Amino acid sequence: MFSKILVANRGEIALRVIRAAREMGIQTVAVHSTADSDAMHVRMADESVCIGPPSSTQSYLSIPAIIAACEITGAEAIHPGYGFLSENANFVQVIEDHGLTFIGPTAEHIRVMGDKITAKDTMKKLGVPCVPGSDGGVTSLEEAKRIGEEIGYPVIIKATAGGGGKGMKVAQTAADMEKAFQTARAEGKSNFGNDEVYIEKYLTTPRHIEIQVFGDGKGNAVHLGERDCSLQRRHQKVFEEAPGPSITAEERARIGKTCADAVANINYIGAGTIEFLYENGEFYFIEMNTRLQVEHPVTEAIFGVDLVREQIRVAEGLPMSFTQEDLQINGHAIEVRINAEKLPNFAPCPGKITQYHAPGGLGVRMDSALYDGYSIPPFYDSLIGKLIVHGRDRPEALARLGRALGELIVDGVDTTVPLFHALLAEEDIQSGGYNIHWLEHWLETNLGDG
Ligand code: ADP
Repeated sequence: MFSKILVANRGEIALRVIRAAREMGIQTVAVHSTADSDAMHVRMADESVCIGPPSSTQSYLSIPAIIAACEITGAEAIHPGYGFLSENANFVQVIEDHGLTFIGPTAEHIRVMGDKITAKDTMKKLGVPCVPGSDGGVTSLEEAKRIGEEIGYPVIIKATAGGGGKGMKVAQTAADMEKAFQTARAEGKSNFGNDEVYIEKYLTTPRHIEIQVFGDGKGNAVHLGERDCSLQRRHQKVFEEAPGPSITAEERARIGKTCADAVANINYIGAGTIEFLYENGEFYFIEMNTRLQVEHPVTEAIFGVDLVREQIRVAEGLPMSFTQEDLQINGHAIEVRINAEKLPNFAPCPGKITQYHAPGGLGVRMDSALYDGYSIPPFYDSLIGKLIVHGRDRPEALARLGRALGELIVDGVDTTVPLFHALLAEEDIQSGGYNIHWLEHWLETNLGDG
């Protein structure tokens, strides 16, 4: 059993990990930049180490600083949270070279899934259905145009190293190809240092459905159903729910088994998410995230499990605490991402929180690192909280979401809370009748955001 772990992250996800560790009787070490000295994760951990200046490249992304913090405090394992170094294969390698444990998958799994072309190729071989498109990388405009004709427009050009919605461009017709191809390459190069791109058929009305998988690294794996994360702005999720309103029990069992078998096959260890676009009853793989997702709490709610606890267990070499048969869905859960952003343009809005009150009551979970008087620093992403509600069914979860949003008070900065009040009034949200483009259209029509 680990006696002490270090959490290489900040904000709500650092608290999430500290909470799980504490319940397991494990001591925790927080790391922080100078801008985060007063942050909640620093206060909540048993110990903390300042690892650098505000800029994340010199603090939360500094591998030497994090390893040094482990050595100073005697932490035996590192949980990366999401973002920052969570999908950095080199980080995992360095951790292992220092005789420490990474709470997550192997460097090799991260490397394979981090390159989208290799990931797609691997998944295809493991029997996972993929979006039709180029076989691997496309290096010239001529080839791109030929593939466009072959698979039919619209197509999407994606940087193989891309992430967070960056490095993806749609070509509606052959005339758009040159610009889309060059822009995707340029974005890949400037954001990820890799200009390799590939091409996929652009699906026009899909839903984003992702399957939560979990493996023990010894050839055993389970799935924990799906999450529907179709409500997105600029390819970033804002509202997630489980189970997916459009997915039947048969579809879940089928795609879930395909995914669990695929990761069991590669001896995957820890939590992973296999993302699909879902259209006309078909699933098309788009990517795998080899980490805990922001939206993992909706899965935890309906299955009654603690995914972080499970991650720590398997990293210690223990078996998973559940089997596929144990995992039965109970009710419906929804998460909304509360960002410090000003509508209608979602401009980041850091600043001082003058008053904070978290909602409570049956079926309500607020994962947030806010407190009265806290100053949100301008250096990091704008997620300040996740409100997760759980009900016996979808209508109850929706009603509970409205009730909980009404109780929430975040004063001093603008937030995305008004967006969720407005969305709850929409018939398509109430009925679950939305796809990945629904929110962008809604924002354009209702807020003039485009
Ligand atoms: P990232 O790694 O940047 O998150 P993904 O490959 O996961 O990129 O895609 C993010 C989002 O982009 C998807 O959820 C979907 O909204 C859209 N998208 C990706 N591929 C396609 C496609 N082939 N057709 C239509 N939309 C797509």
